Parts: sequence; structure tokens; C-alpha cells
Amino acid sequence: MTTRRYKTGLDRREQMVLPPCLDDYICADNLARAIDAYVEGCDLAALGFTHTLAPKHGAGQPAFDPADLLKLYLYGYLHRVRSSRRLEAEARRNLECIWLLGGLVPGYKTLADFRKDNAKALKAAGRDFALLCKAAGLYGGELVAIDGSFVRGNASKASIDTRSRLEKEGERIEKLIEGYLAGLDKADREGAEPPSEDPALKDKLAHLRERQADVQARRRRLEESGEGQFSGTDPDARLLSKNGQVVAGYNVQIAVDAKHKLLVCSEAAQDGNDAAQLAPMAVAAKELLGVEFLQAEADGGYYSQAQIKACEDVEVTAYVAIPNKSRLQREEGRFAREDFQYDAQADRYLCPAGQSLVPQGRQEKRGEVYIHYAARASGCQDCPLRAKCLPAKTPYRQLNRWEHEAVVERHRARMQVEGTARMRSRAALAEHPFGTFKLWFGWTHFLVRGKTKVGGVLGLMTLCYNLRRAVNLLGVEALIALCRVRAAA
Ligand code: SF4
Repeated sequence: MTTRRYKTGLDRREQMVLPPCLDDYICADNLARAIDAYVEGCDLAALGFTHTLAPKHGAGQPAFDPADLLKLYLYGYLHRVRSSRRLEAEARRNLECIWLLGGLVPGYKTLADFRKDNAKALKAAGRDFALLCKAAGLYGGELVAIDGSFVRGNASKASIDTRSRLEKEGERIEKLIEGYLAGLDKADREGAEPPSEDPALKDKLAHLRERQADVQARRRRLEESGEGQFSGTDPDARLLSKNGQVVAGYNVQIAVDAKHKLLVCSEAAQDGNDAAQLAPMAVAAKELLGVEFLQAEADGGYYSQAQIKACEDVEVTAYVAIPNKSRLQREEGRFAREDFQYDAQADRYLCPAGQSLVPQGRQEKRGEVYIHYAARASGCQDCPLRAKCLPAKTPYRQLNRWEHEAVVERHRARMQVEGTARMRSRAALAEHPFGTFKLWFGWTHFLVRGKTKVGGVLGLMTLCYNLRRAVNLLGVEALIALCRVRAAA
């Protein structure tokens, strides 16, 4: 039985006969060992990292090995340390970082430059690890869920100019200037000491005119950019809004494989609307997985007939929640579009009263071709269901059918059978990575500016998420073995 009250550590000043080896402090299943094995097995030159070639001349200090810097970044991002200054501090004091870098301490500027200069290579590394997971059979390659989340950029909401915002600001300043000038005129007329000589007023007017000139310059810059928004801080960040939430940043898109919830690909989009993201993400996922057919699930924000067709064209079967556009009509007791049955053989629609709507011609709307169908006016005139079908003054019913409407009908038929289960599966798959990003990795905003650098950081986050998942699935030692086998091959 011990008489000590607490466990006693080493005396800090005690000389050791056999100093402990640094490697002894890092146990066999430490995540740092997986990071080390992956980076050591990577062809960093092929991924496009800088300083991978031997210097042409021997002058000056040698550069830090990009492998060391990548290890430190991976370690940091996996442990909620993302700022270059904090990474430098970790390299100095954290035993696992000291082990990873062999005691080297890169300065924060070196670290920041590495992240800045290797954006494309970091993105390529994210893809490279996904290919490693694919080789290990960790992807199912049958089903992916696609989802997006707004992530704050390195720019404030106030730094992003939009046309309407600049117009309002310009009008407000103009009104202030007019107010001051009107006050001066009035004072002149009343014969008071000429206030136009008042230096304080002169300064105010000059300041307002400067602000007006600045607004005009920003308007010109916005016009020249050809975009609807422009930020002087991060030219690629956008004001994104959804459900009353407004974020200045990027719309991060991911595709998650169903087998082990591993990320297949990710992208930082600038459009806050997901409606154009389904096919690009599905195509990228299919290409990485190298499969012939793929199923893709997404929420109602992704619903777009053009995107569903684009998916079908490349053998991706889409399952997208269909927004309920006929709710109002149903609540008012009126017929909705779905109440008109299309007869493909006869190429006509049958209305609820059994009358035919036949093709009348074609028309183009926003780059898409529609076929125009109409019922006979005489049939609609005396129809007993007319009140549920047409406004009082409309003579007959008309419908437009997209030239590829069959794609939409196939999708609707799929969703009628499997919709509920598909949307449940989508939520379980797609929300896991975003939850991990935000709660586990503490990743709520980008520290870099510009789409390329943001893409690099997203590649790094994708790699970290997949590395963490792969360690959970395989264990550190099996992952190390896998990296070594690949490196040897
Ligand atoms: S109003 Fe015309 S289209 Fe509508 S249900 Fe009656 S007959 Fe059919």
C-alpha cells in the first residue's frame, strides 16, 4: 500500500542516464504516425507542391521540405489549429509536432506562404487521398449524397458591394450634399454671415464629395468585373442568403459516398443557389469513383430539370426532393399541373374532364424549348369543372411541356416510390461531414482569400476529414501499411 498522496512526475532538472527517444513518446496508434506515413508516401512533386526540386544553386539557407509543412498543416487542421502563428507555436511546444517535423520550427510566414503558394497542390492532395481510399475499397461507388453549406470567407458583409447597395449609398450621400447646399443657399438669402466661408461646413462637403467619388469608383469596378457583387477584400467572396441567413463567403459543396460516409469531392461555389450544382458535383464524383452508373441524392434546393437531365445524360440517376409548387392551387381547390395526364403515344394531355390538349407549336424560354398544348375553347366554355381549372376570363386551358419533360416524369415517378426513404438517407449521409467540419474540426470560416486559395484549404479539409474517417475505419497501423504499399508500388 502506497503512502504517497499523488503520483509523482520526473524532476525537471534530473539528468537521465539514458535520455528517452522522441519516438517513444508517440504510441503506435497515434494519428501523427498516419499523417507521417501518408505524406512520406506521397509524390509531392506530382501533386504540384513547391520546392520539391533540388535547388539550381547552393546559395542561401535550404528551404523547408514541403512534406514537413504539409504534415504540420494536416496535424493542425485535424486538431483545430489553423492559423499559421498557432501552427508555429505548436511546432515549438507540441511533442507530436516535434516528432513529425524532427524538431524543425518553420516560422508563421513560411507556413502562411506554403498554404498560399500551394493551393492547387493542396486540392490535388485531397483528391489523392480520396484515390487512396478508393484503392483500399472504402468507397461503395453506388450512391452519393450531395449537399452544400455556407462557410464564411475572409471578408465582412460590409465589404461586399452590390449594385443596389451602391445605388442606395450614392443616393443617400447625394441627399446629404443637397441638404447642406440648400442650407447654404438659405443662409445666403437671409443675409447671414456667409456660411459658405465656414471651414467646418466646407470640410463636411468635401468629405461627402470624396465619399461620393469613392462610391462611383466602386460602381465602375463592379461594372468592370461583370459580376453582380464585388468585394475589395476578397474579390471572389459573395453575399449568400438562404432562409433569412446572410453570409459573406462561399457555398461549399460536397459529395459523400454512402458506404462509409467518406467525401468523394468538394468544391467552393460562389452562387448561393444550389440549383446549378447537382450535375457538376455528380459528374466529379462519378469521375473520381470511376464507375459507370451512380445514384445521387440531394435536397429540394438542388431541384432543376436541366440538372436532372444533365445527370441522366452521364448515367447518374438523380433523387432530388421536388418542391411543392402546387400547394397553393390545391389549397384553393384548383387543379394543378399534375392533374393533367400526358399520353405519350398520342402526344396530348388529358384534362380532368377528359378533354385533350393538343400541341400548338414550340417556343423558347431562357434557352429551353417548350411545346405549347391547348384545349378547345368550346370544350372549356361549358365544362362543369371550369371553376377549378381556369380564371373566369380565360377562354381555354393551356400547358407548356419541356422538350425533355420525359426526364422530369421519370424522376417524379422514382420519387413517388422512393422519395421519403431517399431523403432520409440523404440527410444521414450529407449532414455528417458538415457536422464534423464545424463541431469536431471547429471549421467555421476560411482564413484565406480568393477562390483558388479557398479551394486549396477545402482540399486540405477534405483530406483531413477522409484521413480521420479512414483511421476510424481501418486503424492507424493498417492505414500506415496501405500508404507504404502504395509508396512502394
Ligand atoms: S376547363 Fe377545359 S381543360 Fe379544364 S377541365 Fe374543363 S375541359 Fe378540361
